[in-house]
Amino acid sequence: MSREQQAVALARKAFETGRSKPLEYRIYQLKSLQRLFIERQQDVSDAIKKDLNKSEVGTQLYETLGLEGEISLAIRKLKDWAAPRPVEKNLLTISDTVYIQPEPLGVVLIIGAWNYPWAVTIQPLIGAIAAGNAAVVKPSEVCVHTAKVMEELLPLYIDKELYPVVTGGVPETQELLRQRFDHIFYTGNSMVGKVIMEAAAKNLTPVTLELGGKSPCYIDKDCDITVACRRVAWGKYTNCGQTCIAPDYILCEPSIQNRVIEEVKKAIKEFYTDDPKTCPDYGRIINQRHFKRIMAMLEDSTIAVGGENDESDCYIAPTVLQDVKPEAKVMQEEIFGPLLPILSIGSLDEAIKFVNKREKPLALYVFSQDNKVINKMRDETSSGGLLANDCLVHYSVSSLPFGGVGNSGMGCYHGKFSFDQLSHLRACLIKQLKMEGVNSMRYPPHTAKKLGWARFFILKTVDLGWLGRMALLAIMVVAVAVVLQVITAMSRKQVSFSSTSCYFKLL
Ligand code: NAD
Repeated sequence: MSREQQAVALARKAFETGRSKPLEYRIYQLKSLQRLFIERQQDVSDAIKKDLNKSEVGTQLYETLGLEGEISLAIRKLKDWAAPRPVEKNLLTISDTVYIQPEPLGVVLIIGAWNYPWAVTIQPLIGAIAAGNAAVVKPSEVCVHTAKVMEELLPLYIDKELYPVVTGGVPETQELLRQRFDHIFYTGNSMVGKVIMEAAAKNLTPVTLELGGKSPCYIDKDCDITVACRRVAWGKYTNCGQTCIAPDYILCEPSIQNRVIEEVKKAIKEFYTDDPKTCPDYGRIINQRHFKRIMAMLEDSTIAVGGENDESDCYIAPTVLQDVKPEAKVMQEEIFGPLLPILSIGSLDEAIKFVNKREKPLALYVFSQDNKVINKMRDETSSGGLLANDCLVHYSVSSLPFGGVGNSGMGCYHGKFSFDQLSHLRACLIKQLKMEGVNSMRYPPHTAKKLGWARFFILKTVDLGWLGRMALLAIMVVAVAVVLQVITAMSRKQVSFSSTSCYFKLL
């Protein structure tokens, strides 16, 4: 048995004991996970510093603070999330108990990416634990130091059988993908997303794909360009541009391009000083392969700001590119680095056309003073999320679903969405063995009269509030008596007709 097979078998066996299910156990695990981020913050930060040159404050701000918040939320809300959810009934089920019961899926595989290695790996794990699942955690091998720390620390805090960590690269991940899971939660690029989905299809395993792509940013000429550019610069250069929802490129009218360049330049200086290379808050490209990939994108574009680089240090300065053509190399794939291309666009309509001609992005940004512009952009495009007059912050709102659409992914998470994503929402209808008369209308022999009753009971919508429901229940009792009489009388006459013509929703 390979290491990967062992981990999955261990998780499956632990899940089958049923211990992941009681809410007290889930909360206990979540609290232990919370303790990890309090007691071992230094280990977490040190590893990320080595991997991505993130500062300690930066690590807390962009990675662990959000996780602590998500854990607290799950602990606070778990009882509500896991409780049966009563649903509206139709007339036929008015006296039944009808509800949705969230239940664990089983064993979840979580495959993380390297850019925010804790956030994108642990956040799905919080959802998996809260929903009562077992989970095999596969951190990205690209973040060498973080993967090691995660492998060491997680078993010290949470149930190491229910939530084993498997480290390794492509061969190990592919070995994992040959195993059977009840859900696969993948974060990474769209190409590998297809590999994941193909592997999942063999067992009809559902997937969540948190992917990336080019997130456009439209800056309207009628807006506070200084503030807009400050926010865009922050969104772009945080983590050296290696953020799935970083604004990938700017679309603006030619008349404001120079101002945009000047304002982004000012913001770069304000955030990262005249020498970003020595600034503790400016990161590094994860490795030389990505460094070379990003540098190659510069070849056919004009640098307006930045461009300095040092391969030995994986450093690329915050860079702005001007008058970029749609055919330029930098526009052919997600940049995932600190290059900010500006493309001239004639109007808002043209910007919308530009966005719609391409894959649906993970995030779409629009900066404008005018709500009509914002609403038009929202109504005439599609993207995972839409954010007006800021960047990135929608990620931090637990009550918003985070996820892509089309090429930027499928499924969503954060807060209750994580819980629901990793639960099966089971439809439950509990009937009493009484009031059999009501059911007569669905039993053969099928008649026009019975169909008429069925139409009434199924198609009539009821939203009468509590009092109304009680009154209706009383009417129902009377109706049942009447129906019973009618049906008994009719079945004596044996008026039957084709059952195919009256197939109704009941069955
Ligand atoms: P990566 O290289 O770390 O890969 C992600 C995971 O996939 C790793 O665990 C890796 O082991 C595994 N993997 C890689 N190749 C594989 C293969 N051939 N078969 C099976 N498994 C394989 O990360 P990446 O893909 O470079 O991450 C960057 C991408 O992720 C960007 O596109 C970014 O936009 C996206 N991303 C999305 C989100 C989101 O929440 N939507 C978050 C972070 C990153």
